[in-house]
Amino acid sequence: MKAWQRTLWCGEASLEHVGEEVVVNGWVHRIRDHGQLIFVEVRDRTGRVQVVFDQGEVPELHREVREWRSEYVVAIRGEVVRRLPGTENPQLPTGEVEIRPRGVKVFSAAKPLPFELDHADKVDEILRLRYRYLDLRRPELQENLRLRHEFTLRAREWFARHGFYEITTPLLTRSTPEGARDFLVPSRLEPGSFYALPQSPQLFKQLLMVAGIERYVQFAHCFRDEDLRADRQPDFVQIDLEMSFVTQEDILQTVEAMMVETLAAVGREVPHPFPRLTYREAMERFGSDKPDLRIPYEIRDVSELMGESDIGVFRKALEGGGRVKALAVPGGASFSRKEMDQMEDEARSLGAPGLAWLAWQGESLRGPLARFFFQEGRWTSLGERLRDILQLQEGSLVLFAAGPWQKAAEILGHFRQQLGQRLGLAERGDRLLWVLEFPLFAWDEELGRWDAQHHPFTLFHPEDEALFAEGRLGEIRAQSYDLVWNGYELGSGSLRIHQREWQEKVLEILGFSPEEAQKRFGFLLDAFQYGVPPHGGMALGLERILMLLVGAKSIREVIAFPKSASGTDPLTGAPAPVDPHQLRELGLQTVLSPQARGIQ
Ligand code: ASP
Repeated sequence: MKAWQRTLWCGEASLEHVGEEVVVNGWVHRIRDHGQLIFVEVRDRTGRVQVVFDQGEVPELHREVREWRSEYVVAIRGEVVRRLPGTENPQLPTGEVEIRPRGVKVFSAAKPLPFELDHADKVDEILRLRYRYLDLRRPELQENLRLRHEFTLRAREWFARHGFYEITTPLLTRSTPEGARDFLVPSRLEPGSFYALPQSPQLFKQLLMVAGIERYVQFAHCFRDEDLRADRQPDFVQIDLEMSFVTQEDILQTVEAMMVETLAAVGREVPHPFPRLTYREAMERFGSDKPDLRIPYEIRDVSELMGESDIGVFRKALEGGGRVKALAVPGGASFSRKEMDQMEDEARSLGAPGLAWLAWQGESLRGPLARFFFQEGRWTSLGERLRDILQLQEGSLVLFAAGPWQKAAEILGHFRQQLGQRLGLAERGDRLLWVLEFPLFAWDEELGRWDAQHHPFTLFHPEDEALFAEGRLGEIRAQSYDLVWNGYELGSGSLRIHQREWQEKVLEILGFSPEEAQKRFGFLLDAFQYGVPPHGGMALGLERILMLLVGAKSIREVIAFPKSASGTDPLTGAPAPVDPHQLRELGLQTVLSPQARGIQ
């Protein structure tokens, strides 16, 4: 092997090596057989270099190489030479040089691949995932993995420089309430009992604060059994951190500095300081708690104006304590009637009674309510005032939503985002922001009870303490925060309750009886008796950060071995039925028939 060991990485071949004898190792990327000359491009993880086999010069090698196919793994010894003038390839970083071979060795042959690496983007993703080890040979994915390595390395360095200890917490543990279903692992030693894989290391990191660790970080594997989306996987990595004796401001500044400096270290300068919005502001202005600030228009409240109008639906909503909100979408007036009908259906599916709209094109205003704003070729006084409030321009589409403020805002927020993308209105670049002061509790209609908006360990806003006694639970703000990047939530965090009585009270509000609270979180409540520092922290989705960094459409593109969109792993076949004796050992029996489990 030694004689065939690499002395030069393919992607590093350059004019400075001209005249040197080198050995390259790698995969045959492409072969072009021009008869007398055979061109072989060899690829390793750094790039590609061309080797030219000239029948006149190396007839034996030429004969041997004729048998080679793409993806053979080879070693080539030869001399680096400058390419002849006019034959340089400016597309290839190594395109000024090539290798004149003196010897070759095949380490292993390869069957034709199930898909062409150069056209993998047109291949069904399931096939790509089934052969992920081939898919990962593509330079784009190699670059994603390299960047993932680089980013985590820089982030780790940052945390170490700032006094954080990286500490591993267990994967076999108890349920942590982050709002998803748990993945359960049956215990053999205690049949009928289960570990839960952590939805996050939340309780352990709080215990580390009780233990006096002060600053903790972990690139933590987390597991959540929930419906998958392009930005969700059942197992994923969070940059999880916790700090003691800090204020919310300290945590925001720490995380912001870590993000700005780590992104810069991997070549991405993002605008900062990150703007801050309260949850209420974000919802009122953008109809979303993760607004995409690249979309350059906002929702406006037109309740006052509509209160003076004769528009029945709006007046009714206002009389019922609701609001009327409007969104002007530049260029949206060109949507057809059919497209507007589709949007109306969509609004209904989001829970709106309908979707009132106006489209201003040339000298006309279309839409179900147009006559209130424009008559006989002129704007009415209501129309003029609306035009001023919304700073309307010709070509704009106005959408209205009326009802409870949050619902109305959410519906317009949905269209703000969707139409911004569809009309290509989103500005380029990166917009990160903080969203602060989420409500502490959210009312769960289905279950008819309060739920934690973040999680049950979140501390309330000091100004809102009195609201507990007054029973105004829905108005209590949390000391919690989300970091958002171009419309994606990167992560959430909060200051934590560190007093046992308050923790018990909040658990009670969330419907845990004292026995249940003790059973599930007793270890935390117990720990809270022995001296607890005030503390708080945050967790950021590593893969979401990377997805945005590389501009991928899905987090699967930045994970070496991801699950498919339906949560399966086409490579290993997981999840899969297990042998009956394994079930017996665990004291388990499956009640689903083999057919229902998809086994024929
Ligand atoms: N454990 C939380 C989560 O996973 C983050 C935190 O509050 O630190 O979202």
